[in-house]
Amino acid sequence: MRATKNLHVCGSCRRPFVVPDAIVSAPPGVDGLVAELRCTDCGWTHVGAYPTAAIEALDRALDLTEREMRTALEICELAEELERIDGFARALELELITPEDF
Ligand SMILES: [Zn+2]
Repeated sequence: MRATKNLHVCGSCRRPFVVPDAIVSAPPGVDGLVAELRCTDCGWTHVGAYPTAAIEALDRALDLTEREMRTALEICELAEELERIDGFARALELELITPEDF
């Protein structure tokens, strides 16, 4: 199975979870870099020679994914916080919490 053009996209499951396990210089006569790629989702691996630009693009894609995950986590935390506030407001409304509780 061949690696896809966008190295961060898995050649098997097509999900964007590919990370480089190893990157080494290509042997003489071969342009670019040799990379061992692994999909963190399905475990697919692939070793191939890629243009340096493709490896750099993979690096950028990983950075972007990390940022997206961090943002998603922040949104999750915010949603949880809002849910807590909502729960508190509801408890106040239903008078499950009264000033005597404090
Ligand atoms: Zn995969």
